Amino acid sequence: MKQYELVVGLEVHVQLASRTKLFCACPTDGFGAEPNSRICPVCTAQPGSLPVLNRRAVELAYRAALALGGDLAGTSVFARKNYFYPDLPKAYQISQYDQPFCTGARLEIRVKDAAPRTIGITRIHLEEDAGKLLHEVGAIKLDGSLVDFNRAGVPLIEIVSEPQIRASDEAYAYLTALKEVVSAVGASRCDMEKGEMRCDANVSVRPAGSDKFGTRAEIKNLNSFKNVKDAIDYEFRRQVQLLESGGRVVQETRLWSAETAETRSMRSKEEAHDYRYFPDPDLVPLTADAAFVASLKSSLPELPSARRARFSAELGLSAYDAEVLTGSLALADYFEKAAAAAPKGAVKTVANLIGTEFLGKLNSEGVEIDEAPVKAEGVGGLAAMVADGTVSSKLAKDMFAKMWETGADPKTVLAQVGGGQISDDKQVRDWVRQAVAANPKAAEDLKGGKQAAIGALVGAVMKLSKGKANPGLVNKLIKEAVQS
Ligand SMILES: [Zn+2]
Repeated sequence: MKQYELVVGLEVHVQLASRTKLFCACPTDGFGAEPNSRICPVCTAQPGSLPVLNRRAVELAYRAALALGGDLAGTSVFARKNYFYPDLPKAYQISQYDQPFCTGARLEIRVKDAAPRTIGITRIHLEEDAGKLLHEVGAIKLDGSLVDFNRAGVPLIEIVSEPQIRASDEAYAYLTALKEVVSAVGASRCDMEKGEMRCDANVSVRPAGSDKFGTRAEIKNLNSFKNVKDAIDYEFRRQVQLLESGGRVVQETRLWSAETAETRSMRSKEEAHDYRYFPDPDLVPLTADAAFVASLKSSLPELPSARRARFSAELGLSAYDAEVLTGSLALADYFEKAAAAAPKGAVKTVANLIGTEFLGKLNSEGVEIDEAPVKAEGVGGLAAMVADGTVSSKLAKDMFAKMWETGADPKTVLAQVGGGQISDDKQVRDWVRQAVAANPKAAEDLKGGKQAAIGALVGAVMKLSKGKANPGLVNKLIKEAVQS
């Protein structure tokens, strides 16, 4: 059998996090609300109503584009995309066509241990969402359809990738990275369950080594990252089988069904000219003011990839730890706060406590970071105790669990557990003096350079301290004692 290469481009719709819709003052919080409770004459296309562009939505769109390294067009143009469907009250959608507000963006993706790859983003444009058809209400199947316009006019950006994705894993990584960047700059919350991030995949195959694209199918109804991955895998197998059996792939739109884990044909794919795009005469071209763009650029937060690099370079974290600890903006902030509350040498301990104990508790109890009973300063304080030898790493784990249970700070918990290593210089020095006096031969050997002889002395101190003396301090003081 011939070898085939997978070719995927993704079109991702992201809902901008503005309070109001793109061309009217209706709130955007209509998800789960009473149907048609977030509507007005503009978003339901009443005669005589006119759109007014939402400045905040544009600002959020620009933030996302800048964070993705895109070029903002000096002028972009809103166009009418004409089609008839009952969820579209104007019978056209206001979108952008040949003059989108952003081109030439890119996104770095990482799949497990493979080297990072950069996927080009052809364009990003602004558009309004459509309404939603209801075919059932609760458990009741309707004898017809109802329409809810709460979502009509909600601001979206569509982010169109180059067809440079070569594996379903890469598609998954692309969506993960995209969500990370767009949410980090506050452009969207990207909550897929609320439809704030939606993805269509253009999938084709071609003989390995060919530089010509095959005919593609557009896959819709992908409402989770996992669905995207599964649908691409399915579609690759389907198209290869089709070609191998002498058939050909037709250009069409296919729907993914998560229940049956397959795609099925929905309609033949429209060409752009089917939509009769033309500039919207009700809206002036959108111009990107240079000073406004410059101020947006300077207000962008540090992006996750830059933060990862900084965690590795400045704090000495391993690539793995840096990856885990930048898993979300909130987690990275939490880690930085904890690290700041600990001495420099304790950063690795902070990373370990957060990466295992803290994340473990968050996951097992389904708690959000800002609701966690252990505050970042507490983790920093606990790590400081490990660093100066007050407690062992093992005891720190038990103490963390206690802190989680009670919400108390590490000092209080240490007093409660009554344990802890003894790092009192005077006390340990005293034990060392007794140990040396009781083991003169070992002390003499150590002084003469026999490093192994220290074991007997350490053992004697541990016996005297009932195992509680800080081993680092014991070693140091024994060496001092025999040299003097
Ligand atoms: Zn409205």
